[in-house]
Amino acid sequence: MIREFEYKGEIFRTNYHGAPGHEEVFIMHIIDGEEFGEMSIDRMTEENDTDAPIEQICIDLCEKLIPEREIQVADPSAGFKWRDVKPVFGVHDGKQETTMKEKTGLPCTVTGIYLAHHDRQHKQPHEVKMVKGHKFPICNQCEDGGPKYELVKEDPNLIR
Ligand SMILES: [Zn+2]
Repeated sequence: MIREFEYKGEIFRTNYHGAPGHEEVFIMHIIDGEEFGEMSIDRMTEENDTDAPIEQICIDLCEKLIPEREIQVADPSAGFKWRDVKPVFGVHDGKQETTMKEKTGLPCTVTGIYLAHHDRQHKQPHEVKMVKGHKFPICNQCEDGGPKYELVKEDPNLIR
């Protein structure tokens, strides 16, 4: 699951998956839509409070990332809050995108960065840069025609 949140006035993106309390959690610092510093924890293998909600884990990761990257936070007193804006949705030609998952083998309609979701957890989700008109790559290990592609960030200027 990819979500964005604010903490201390800064914007972060988180990507977490797995059973609650045992997720693998990534956070990325976002500046002007670009991803900067990254911090992660595997709650299955690394020491952490497995009763803590995901929000607390995100805060803990921020508290490690901020000093490591020497981030000058915009508002040190501001707390954690989820952002309502879903970064994966964009408005194109006045029509709201309703499909989040693009299918393998179909041509890409929006140039940008996608997250490839493989089935049966055989491979971690990973980013793929796609240019409009190109077909989404196939994965031989995925059943049912390969990974599902989720648009993370539209970028018409992306060059492969
Ligand atoms: Zn696969």
